[in-house]
Amino acid sequence: MTNQATPTPAHYDLCIIGAGLSGMNALFAAAEVLPRDATVVLIDRNERCGGMWIAAYDYVRLHQPHPMFTAGNIPWAWTKAREHLASRDEVISHFGHCLATLRAKVSVTERFGLECVSINETKQSVMVQCRNSANDDETIHATRVIHASGYQITPPAPLSFTCKRILSTTPEHLFEKLGEASSPDVYVIGGGKTGMDTALALFDKAPDKRIHLVNGTGTIFGNRNLYAPKGVKRWWHGKLSLSTFADLALRFDGRNARDVFTYFRQHFTVGPDSNAQQFFFGLLSEEENARLSAGLTSMIGDYLEDVVECGGTPHLLLRSGRRVAIAPGSTIVNCTGHILRKDLQYRPYISAEGKVLTISPRSMVHFLSSVSAYFLTHLFLRNRLPDRHLYALDMQSLLRSSRQDWQMTGITLSLLNTLVFAERLPIGVLAKCGLDQDFWFPFPRRLAAMVRLGFRRTQLKAHCRQVLDAVQRRHGIRCAPLAG
Ligand SMILES: Cc1cc2nc3c(=O)[nH]c(=O)nc-3n(C[C@H](O)[C@H](O)[C@H](O)COP(=O)(O)OP(=O)(O)OC[C@H]3O[C@@H](n4cnc5c(N)ncnc54)[C@H](O)[C@@H]3O)c2cc1C
Repeated sequence: MTNQATPTPAHYDLCIIGAGLSGMNALFAAAEVLPRDATVVLIDRNERCGGMWIAAYDYVRLHQPHPMFTAGNIPWAWTKAREHLASRDEVISHFGHCLATLRAKVSVTERFGLECVSINETKQSVMVQCRNSANDDETIHATRVIHASGYQITPPAPLSFTCKRILSTTPEHLFEKLGEASSPDVYVIGGGKTGMDTALALFDKAPDKRIHLVNGTGTIFGNRNLYAPKGVKRWWHGKLSLSTFADLALRFDGRNARDVFTYFRQHFTVGPDSNAQQFFFGLLSEEENARLSAGLTSMIGDYLEDVVECGGTPHLLLRSGRRVAIAPGSTIVNCTGHILRKDLQYRPYISAEGKVLTISPRSMVHFLSSVSAYFLTHLFLRNRLPDRHLYALDMQSLLRSSRQDWQMTGITLSLLNTLVFAERLPIGVLAKCGLDQDFWFPFPRRLAAMVRLGFRRTQLKAHCRQVLDAVQRRHGIRCAPLAG
């Protein structure tokens, strides 16, 4: 679809590739910084904005209260309770509302159904080679490009097994397939956010089923009751994310991730497995956790390798070598995760000529791609990148080198760079970043936390840099400021 009100120019001031949450935050920031008559083109291979949410399973919900999932500070066009966890369709509808709001602020040409196949930068401008849904090639010229193509999340395929006497499916097709299963047993494979969403949805929609969780080394979740306490409790109860990040970062020295993780797990998290080893920045409430603990028929702390026939009965074959007999006709749901399954090409967040900004986990500046897009766009359009104090982490490589280290390193990096953003950008830019989870709390509490942090800023930054340098040396991965 092309915005009919805007004639299509041959050359744009800015081209944004990707209309997910990152692209929309880049567009929000661009609308704040660029002159009113600037021309922007927004490209996405999908037919609408919404990013990974468009293809997500239909029972996915936001794990944070909905106001903190937006473009910039655009409010949701409804008056639901602040703690409401928006559904997939509500999220997609909010994307539409954000785009409509931004159209009024900046001249944006929307090119959906257009895939970017390559980006070529010269000293003068950038050429974005694209292909449309009819397979025709097209070139878009722009002065600058923001490449916000996400983590290339694609819906998972059903797991394939030696034994065929089970029903293997995915969250996207679970409820349409469930009727075909001859056994009431459902095995949820994976204990991350998708696994939790799936178990909770099964409790609600298929109460006659017996739900088993195969959750590897287990995942913990930030305790939503702590990070988003309800009602007036917001004034005194709970914990600001920024304060938690500072607490954890100061305990982390680059080598003691296990100890800091144990401290974090004890004080700030919930999850059905109290000894879990993984954390992917998800949130879960104490009530949801209690439902999971009470409702799960069994929990298997191991990884599923295959389902095999053994003595005429299907068995789960686990990584430890253990076998668990299951009923024929059981359902197996692949919730093994969507993120960073594919190799992403390394691109520094800012290109050689300074005309292409890339939001990527390979040159990550914040654990949330949307927050990275918001702040980096502000700096990019002010010609302030690269910034010699901003650390960039190759999160994909670190994750593969050490699962244990990436969580605390991601926290340390996000804290350091948030402090750098706060120093570089006007206070109004920070105030309009509605993605900040701490907006949940009343302003005086946030202000007090920021003042406390401000006093320790120099010490915190020095510590974070030291830790990130130690991580870089230990793992031999990219974890340093980009050269100016
Ligand atoms: C199951 C699941 C649940 C989640 N739940 C939450 C949650 O509750 N809260 C939360 O904050 N986060 C959640 N996340 C994380 C989520 O990924 C981010 O919040 C956010 O939506 C990511 O936005 P993005 O724009 O970076 O990436 P995406 O949403 O992946 O958007 C990237 C866009 O770029 C487009 N694109 C990619 N390549 C090209 C190309 N070559 N040409 C044209 N277009 C291209 C894609 O079509 C897509 O629209 C969840 C993730 C998953 C997988």
